[in-house]
Amino acid sequence: MADKTQLVIVGAGPGGYAAAFHAADLGLDVALVDPEANPGGVCLYRGCIPSKALLHAASVIHDARAAAELGLHFGDPAIDIGKLRAWKNGVVAKLTGGLGQLTRQRKVRYVQGRARLLDASTLEIEGAPDGTRRLAFGHAILATGSRPFELAGFPRSPRVLDSTSALDLGDVSGRMLVVGGGYIGLELGSVYAALGCRVTVVEMLPGLLPGVDRDLVRPLAKRLEVDLECVRLETRVAEVEERGAGLSVRFDGQAEAETFDRVLVAVGRGPNSERLGLEATRVRVDERGFVLVDAQLRTEEPTISAIGDLVGQPMLAHKASHEGRTAVEAIAGHKVAFEPAAIPAVVFTDPEIAWCGWTEDEAKARGRAVEVARFPWAASGRALTLGRDDGLTKLVLEPGTGRVLGVGIVGPGAGELIAEGVLAVEMGATARDLALTIHPHPTLSETVMEAAEVFFGQSTHVFRPKRR
Ligand code: NAD
Repeated sequence: MADKTQLVIVGAGPGGYAAAFHAADLGLDVALVDPEANPGGVCLYRGCIPSKALLHAASVIHDARAAAELGLHFGDPAIDIGKLRAWKNGVVAKLTGGLGQLTRQRKVRYVQGRARLLDASTLEIEGAPDGTRRLAFGHAILATGSRPFELAGFPRSPRVLDSTSALDLGDVSGRMLVVGGGYIGLELGSVYAALGCRVTVVEMLPGLLPGVDRDLVRPLAKRLEVDLECVRLETRVAEVEERGAGLSVRFDGQAEAETFDRVLVAVGRGPNSERLGLEATRVRVDERGFVLVDAQLRTEEPTISAIGDLVGQPMLAHKASHEGRTAVEAIAGHKVAFEPAAIPAVVFTDPEIAWCGWTEDEAKARGRAVEVARFPWAASGRALTLGRDDGLTKLVLEPGTGRVLGVGIVGPGAGELIAEGVLAVEMGATARDLALTIHPHPTLSETVMEAAEVFFGQSTHVFRPKRR
């Protein structure tokens, strides 16, 4: 390896590797540094991909159970946890191996190790297979991601899990407490519940998934009442102690402790901005440690950009990848800015919840007048054939023009359906555009079209005339 590169990218998650590949495609000389043997980052090794593999297994179990209603009886599943774990690990290995190959095909120089800035044009890379080395760069993009928050007062014990160790599926029997009713708590809590664990979720706020419209959360909350042992809202953990064969947990305002076999802590994530050597540069961070960047993802240090979880919410892989490509184009001298009208978010529970653009609650909180058109899936033929009439599709629209400002969907496949909503918001589409676009029948995608028809009081399958 030469000791100088035009562009170095620190961190090979979906932000970092997308940036590296795009830079190589644009003809730049690129190095990509990461402690893992192949690119992938948290998303592929310890996040999105392994959790979605396990959620798929959970949905197979659910569907088999639900099939009893159609007269199809499968009986209880015999779960080979070792094989499930191996299958999930195989998915991860295939994807990360594929990324390694794409890295080589593009002639991106991959350096395994942990990088630290020595100044605004030099990195020191530790832990590389051939020893600590230095790399001089013209530009750097920092893409080191985030890590789970820990909670003070929780014992250091193999029974206390974070999202990473929970994905290892050590033991799925007995009782599990999930602290935090957000994305990770509900996704991984659902996996453990489907595999036979009795799961309690404790959330400090009055509702699950804070920030998501309540009408979208309701169908999920209802289902969780059945699938989980208990959901405790407006509750915090006061004390956790390891005692013999379990963890003794006392909740705020409760005298008696309860015993759990394990506790999963999923109370949010914070940026990996420490130990990066930022103090040796002019890069600035905010009070929570997020690196401050402009619309071109440039920091205060002209040679250094930053992307992804490291620069703030939403901490989502697809946001990081797009930021990565924008950062590279800005470095290459293109006139670009990261200014999306909508970034989709998906919670991969059953039902899934997906939304983009303005939510109804956000519009209310920020005093923006909106009209909301809802299409309940009980009126969708396709939803009924799937035995799932609990879904909802809603449009958040600009009064008068009917411009689509936001879309929210709850129901199976919501994560796939939301892409149409994102396109509508990005293209400045109106409810009329959605209503006039012929959607295939019978599909769940029709619910987007019919929600737009509801706005005009003219939905074929919902009788809700508008007052003239
Ligand atoms: P989150 O912010 O989604 O949820 C954390 C929850 O914990 C919140 O509801 C919060 O009110 C609650 N909480 C905080 N402190 C608590 C306490 N002491 N006791 C009880 N509850 C407490 O965070 P997460 O679930 O850890 O996920 C982290 C991030 O990872 C997410 O913000 C998201 O960006 C990303 N993520 C995305 C996906 C996805 O896209 N499907 C999946 C997993 C994670």
